[in-house]
Amino acid sequence: MKRVIQHIKHLVNTRTNSIVVRGSALSQLPIIENAFIVVENGIIQAYGTMHELTVDHMSGAEVIDAAGSSVLPCWCDSHTHLVFAASREDEFVHKINGLTYAEIAAKGGGILNSARKIAQSTEDELYLQAMTRLNELMKLGTGAIEIKSGYGLNTDNELKMLRVIKRIKETAPIPVKASFLGAHTYPLEFRENHEGYIDQIINEMLPIIADEQLADYIDVFCEEGFFSVAETQRICEAGIAYGLKPKIHANQLNASGGVELGVKLGAISVDHLETMNDSAISALSQSVTIGTLLPTAAFFLRMPYQPARTLINANAALALASDFNPGSSPSGNMNFVVALSCIQMKMLPEEAINAATINGAFAMELANEVGSITIGKRANLIFTHPIPSLAYMPYAFGSNLIQKVMINGQFI
Ligand SMILES: [Zn+2]
Repeated sequence: MKRVIQHIKHLVNTRTNSIVVRGSALSQLPIIENAFIVVENGIIQAYGTMHELTVDHMSGAEVIDAAGSSVLPCWCDSHTHLVFAASREDEFVHKINGLTYAEIAAKGGGILNSARKIAQSTEDELYLQAMTRLNELMKLGTGAIEIKSGYGLNTDNELKMLRVIKRIKETAPIPVKASFLGAHTYPLEFRENHEGYIDQIINEMLPIIADEQLADYIDVFCEEGFFSVAETQRICEAGIAYGLKPKIHANQLNASGGVELGVKLGAISVDHLETMNDSAISALSQSVTIGTLLPTAAFFLRMPYQPARTLINANAALALASDFNPGSSPSGNMNFVVALSCIQMKMLPEEAINAATINGAFAMELANEVGSITIGKRANLIFTHPIPSLAYMPYAFGSNLIQKVMINGQFI
């Protein structure tokens, strides 16, 4: 099936080759005005200005008129906890009523609440729930996604989550990457016995995960009160020995040294970064590790946002992701992530779009498949309603500006 889409108002993020976009380059978003694109067998075959459209391009193709739509590569959401068993709006209301984190935890809330619900759910139930969420996200323009375990917190249930993610990977029409986050928090029985749980992660879970090829990455919640820098290093190094690259939760609540460790270990990305000091900023900026900002988590938790401008000025490579999870970011809407980045972190629309597309693809090692309008990449494309300019997307943040989404060359 060959399709030519013509009269595209803006064809966004056209790149002949893919490189991580960092620092001042983030503000350079290549756009072709009044453009066409040729899609064949789910792959981008050609694109250019309408003047460059030839008989050859049109031959044998179904011709679609974009009628003033702008076309972007789909969002690449490189950090989610998409597989979970139950929403947690009761905790949300407790917080509105002024209960503290400790009081909510005492009522059985938090990550351990999600872990209990995972333990009570079957793989089928988790799979169907997650696929429903994924289908909603694809309609919102997400065309590649990373999914973490981390609500299992024991061998059986971590493996259960990872098998669900593997099934999503095998059946979803978009690329999916899996991260093993057994080190999300300490289960109650290991609160005073960190060594016992780390031993379970390293010696029980990892060998099976490697054997069944259940994960691409190893993730650790590196934070005071959770996993220390030394513990994070041991767990990541054990994962690396099994071929899993690190992608870690760092510097959300404290400048704990998580970013510096991630850089030292050659992590694909360090994610969160609400609390950055000079040492973390300079380590990240001088590394190949991508800094992934999760502004909707800061928004939902009413916490300070990530210092995006400081990081861009320091020449860091930034990605944007949703952190979709039931506790701190119960939305996977990347349109809102992009808008919030512009509104609250003062990223330029061009910077936010680059961070949510090409750099998100790099943060999942998928840049050869998605993240830009490039010949040979998947035709995973967002078609907007007619908009006056690209800046209108984050500006009109509450409107659904997506007219339709193409995944592998097919409208969904
Ligand atoms: Zn997360």
